[in-house]
Amino acid sequence: MERSTLKSGGWTVESLRPFYRDTWAEVDLDAIAHNIHAIKSTLPEHVHIMAVVKANAYGHGAADVARESLAAGASILGVAILDEAIALRQEGIVAPILVMGYVRPEDVKIACELNITLTVFQAEWATLALQTLQDSTLKLHCHLKLDTGMNRIGMKTEEEIDELLAVLETTKKIIVDGAYTHLAKADEHDKQYTFKQIDRFNQLLDHLRIKGIDPFFKHCANSAGTLQYEQAPFNVIRAGIAMYGLTPSIEMKPTLPVKLKQAFSLHSKVTHVKRLGPGEKVSYGGTYETKQEEWIITIPIGYADGFIRANQSGEVLVNGDRAPIVGRVCMDQLMVRVKEEVPVGTKVTLIGAQGDSHISTDEVAERLETINYEVSCIISYRVPRAIVKDGKTLHIHNRVFS
Ligand SMILES: *Cc1c(COP(=O)(O)O)cnc(C)c1O
Repeated sequence: MERSTLKSGGWTVESLRPFYRDTWAEVDLDAIAHNIHAIKSTLPEHVHIMAVVKANAYGHGAADVARESLAAGASILGVAILDEAIALRQEGIVAPILVMGYVRPEDVKIACELNITLTVFQAEWATLALQTLQDSTLKLHCHLKLDTGMNRIGMKTEEEIDELLAVLETTKKIIVDGAYTHLAKADEHDKQYTFKQIDRFNQLLDHLRIKGIDPFFKHCANSAGTLQYEQAPFNVIRAGIAMYGLTPSIEMKPTLPVKLKQAFSLHSKVTHVKRLGPGEKVSYGGTYETKQEEWIITIPIGYADGFIRANQSGEVLVNGDRAPIVGRVCMDQLMVRVKEEVPVGTKVTLIGAQGDSHISTDEVAERLETINYEVSCIISYRVPRAIVKDGKTLHIHNRVFS
């Protein structure tokens, strides 16, 4: 398809693939920039911000969030898997990228070629990675991962560190740029565990120093660690959830040192309107029954869009009013009861604001008995993302199948 200006879903957009459905998410890049500035305002000057854009930027759109966060003051990008880092390079992003999860040692070449930094925490892994690199002049840049209490990945003991250092001493092909750990309970009121983790991190950094390794980048703080602990920043912080404008936990909400703006919202439009008499059943299983004459509208979003069935107890916004979802959420559609007749095409907001009303991601998370992190992550690729800046749609991501 030719690149041209196309009108779709009420938007006039420049897009290779427009969308022809009335359900979309909006990602407010101004909110991302605001949140980066807000996080930066809490930090000493020398601290770098790593913008964590794994999982397609928690469902927001990795390339756009990456670019916006870098423009707003982040200097490093963090992802979970190598494929995410490669995809960012393919988008033309040249900033430093750290892959925070495991990468197969046989795949280090592509990481070196694309200047992608990996996380290293096993001596055997380093040996295998060196074998992969043996016939090339490529060098691998890495951050060492230290486990101070998360018990996920990382070196827990001085002995493990020494084994890895013994491998690294044999080569100039693996360059240690950083060392980091991850906090397990930084979003809670009780600070003891986090202080213990920070102490242990300092111990292990001392051990590295004694062994002659003093990596430039040192970091332990996720969003919660950044916002709750003066001691946590070292010289890099890793900001995920706070950059998206959400609090790392409900517990932290009252004491948040900065005002964050939620970047993600989710919208649809009414496709069908009907007046039902009393005693009518709605949706699969007929679990909802009208009590009187009721206006029922249909919205083209369902569990295949990541608006999962557990949302059936929730509310949406129609003309600025809250309206309940009734009956089971279907794969592609759901029904809502409204007070009065509304025309087909009326905008419905499932996450976000309409007038003075607001359905926050936190509200949806509570409804689903999960954490806010999960809500935008699970909105599927079938939902196009409209990337908004200065109130205008820059472009739309619409991948449909993947
Ligand atoms: C996902 C992730 C982060 C970001 O955490 P937030 O709580 O979203 O700020 C930081 N560090 C690591 C290692 C992660 O996996």
